[in-house]
Amino acid sequence: MKITKLTLYRVPPRWMFLKIETDEGVTGWGEPVIEGRARTVEAAVNELTDYLVGQDPCRINDLWQVMYRGGFYRGGPIMMSAIAGVDQALWDIKGKLLGVPVYELLGGRVRDRMKMYSWVGGDRPAEVIEGIHTLREIGIDTFKLNGTEELGIVDTAAKVDAAVGRIAQIRDAFGKTIEFGIDFHGRVAAPMAKVLLRELEPFRPLFVEEPVLPEQAEYYPRLAEATAIPLAAGERMFSRFEFKHVFRRGGIAIVQPDLSHAGGITECVKIASMAEAYDVAFAPHCPLGPVALAACLQVDFVAHNAVLQEQSMGIHYNKGAELFDYVLNPEDFVITDGYFPPLPKPGLGVIVDEERVIAASRNAPDWRNPVWRHPDGSVAEW
Ligand SMILES: [Mg+2]
Repeated sequence: MKITKLTLYRVPPRWMFLKIETDEGVTGWGEPVIEGRARTVEAAVNELTDYLVGQDPCRINDLWQVMYRGGFYRGGPIMMSAIAGVDQALWDIKGKLLGVPVYELLGGRVRDRMKMYSWVGGDRPAEVIEGIHTLREIGIDTFKLNGTEELGIVDTAAKVDAAVGRIAQIRDAFGKTIEFGIDFHGRVAAPMAKVLLRELEPFRPLFVEEPVLPEQAEYYPRLAEATAIPLAAGERMFSRFEFKHVFRRGGIAIVQPDLSHAGGITECVKIASMAEAYDVAFAPHCPLGPVALAACLQVDFVAHNAVLQEQSMGIHYNKGAELFDYVLNPEDFVITDGYFPPLPKPGLGVIVDEERVIAASRNAPDWRNPVWRHPDGSVAEW
């Protein structure tokens, strides 16, 4: 069996799908993308195509190693996202060829259903309460929201009170009938992270995500010493070789690799396993599309330490398309009591609506993240 063709489709809202075709007619889909840099990842996948065409798609491990080690320069968001999308499509092909879901190829399920959570409240964390009410009506009881807006390296008591006040209102409104994580989104520098974590601790969030930027990962153990809130990070780390430093230093309770950024299924199964050895939970990052989500779920169902799955239904980024708009089998993803079922179909378990993808790719926008500035005009972390 040989790979014959790779085709990329950039589509709204900010996604990119990869179709890999073979000489035996089996096709696979992946989702290689970095939000805001889709065209750069597109170029990286195109560079991998020279090698991939003509290769046996079933030798996923070898192809992964060639894509990673075959380039003298390696790693980082662009290359690892390109590899991730190819890797997902290869697993999709292999599963379809053998007639089983990917989790069967990975040794079979360790759980019957997977807990998921929803984003509420958008980029700026107002109107969260209304969002939670709406989502509770469809059985969702676990959420994530942004913790702050722009925050200076050292900032005011008023800003701290605003951030903490919102969380207090949520606990007030819903008590312990819901749970939520708070995403600092890398907006908070170490001096303020310490203050905010202390003030937020009484409200017992499930976790605080990216309490500081991953560039400042040396602060994770120090911050963890100072708070009982579990700290989460990992969406901006791209391989085992980055995660190993986090595991060794300690401080992170939940790792959140992105199946479309961190080398795909092949790499993230290994990251999950490393995390398990360190008593660290696994919660894949996934504000992306349905192929990425399906890839996440395949790993969630084989990783004993998988605790929560992010997904992008109704997320503030989904302008122009929603999570299942390009999917022909949305019924396989139906959420019951806040859990996803195991996807029953062979491969990744998602049937991509190719006609719709092709049509949408004709006018795909180039999504960019906003550039925020502090009141003094200096650029702020978004
Ligand atoms: Mg995040």
